[in-house]
Amino acid sequence: MNNDGMLVVLSGPSGSGKDTVLSEVYKTSDDLVQSISMTTRSPRDGEVDGVDYYFVSEEYFLNAIDDGRMLEYAKYGTNYYGTPKEPVDNWLRSGKTVILKIEVQGAENIKKLYSDCVSIFITPPSLSVLEKRLRLRGTEQEEDIVRRLNTACDELQKIKYYDYVVINDALVNAVEEVKSIILAEKLKVSRRKNIISEVTKNV
Ligand code: 5GP
Repeated sequence: MNNDGMLVVLSGPSGSGKDTVLSEVYKTSDDLVQSISMTTRSPRDGEVDGVDYYFVSEEYFLNAIDDGRMLEYAKYGTNYYGTPKEPVDNWLRSGKTVILKIEVQGAENIKKLYSDCVSIFITPPSLSVLEKRLRLRGTEQEEDIVRRLNTACDELQKIKYYDYVVINDALVNAVEEVKSIILAEKLKVSRRKNIISEVTKNV
């Protein structure tokens, strides 16, 4: 697909710290926008509708799919998650760097649609660290923690399909690495055709 903006897909197991890394990355640039996903999951304490997610009923979600309003979607555990299409298209057209924080199945679908997207996988240093983080977070019941750990094992097998992997051991390093990846990708010749033709105009 042809556009001026850049699409960044960021995945990582639940508890890998993607949200914390991303919130730090967003502070550093006005050019980055985060797509707000739609989900059928219930809000966690402190989560706000229209900020963290659009929290909707399953019926609403399934209708949005039928109406072609979702760019991608996936079932994760017992809930649906998906990216509304229209805002992403608009941001890309206006030259923004759009970040989709989505799980591996959605990432695979986005790669098929946007072959020039940049994919980053954020991983914890180990499964035991992940388990500790999920328990410390205290937002899920035991059954859901076990399900998320099992899903994490499947997700970690998919790292090889991503362009970059960032190990979230120390937050500052992970943030710097994600910022560096985005910057390097933006500077690629293939993304700078307009600037290059300007520079080389009278050559
Ligand atoms: P959580 O319930 O922890 O907020 O999210 C569960 C998983 O769903 C995470 O891996 C998260 O990145 C993923 N996710 C969130 N939004 C979307 C989305 O729009 N599409 C897809 N495919 N996955 C999403």
